[in-house]
Amino acid sequence: MKIKSAEFVISNSDVSKCPETKLPEYAFIGRSNVGKSSLINALTNRKDLAKTSGRPGKTQLINHFLINQSWFLVDLPGYGYARVSKTAKKTFQKFITQYFEKREQMLCAFVLIDSRHKPQAIDMEFMTWLGEHQIPFCIIFTKADKLKPKALERNIQNYQEEMLQVWEEMPQYFVTSSANGLGSEEVLGYIQNINDNLQK
Ligand code: GDP
Repeated sequence: MKIKSAEFVISNSDVSKCPETKLPEYAFIGRSNVGKSSLINALTNRKDLAKTSGRPGKTQLINHFLINQSWFLVDLPGYGYARVSKTAKKTFQKFITQYFEKREQMLCAFVLIDSRHKPQAIDMEFMTWLGEHQIPFCIIFTKADKLKPKALERNIQNYQEEMLQVWEEMPQYFVTSSANGLGSEEVLGYIQNINDNLQK
């Protein structure tokens, strides 16, 4: 998919105020610092569409970006930031769960996972929650350029093994790097494919 236009539409913390259209949307979510903003910028080929922040946990809003006038890329807040208070965590959980429960046009959630790390409980729990709520999702492994090919392969293999303890099959996954563009075409192609099928 070629990105012809990408524009910021609205930020909010209230799912009822998200854009009132039926355009398909795709959510990007993951732990703070996983590389979400960088990936969104890489996918859309824009330098600062999503704000890469040195202050994890500060971007606590649902951000809608309209792509090619035809679908929304939704940047959800990063989770799991230790220094956020318990109350803030609860509020966060509430509006994120409401987003996923209410937003019927959300066709796939991309759960970002740092390819360097071992499986983390918070990500596993989040994916289990998505599964229990029958919310379609894919995994995007980020920062692939930071590992040597063998180590990358090993980590992904290991991740699959852990997933298969819980899941019958490994969800669709993508290996990406915002530094060198690895995987961007595949992610965009996946989205394009879903969008194309909607029109049939
Ligand atoms: P966010 O908090 O999930 O939005 O993460 P950011 O996109 O702000 O990235 C967090 C840090 O990881 C920043 O210092 C980025 O430059 C770095 N980073 C993100 N993606 C990549 C990547 O693909 N490769 C490398 N080498 N660094 C990355």
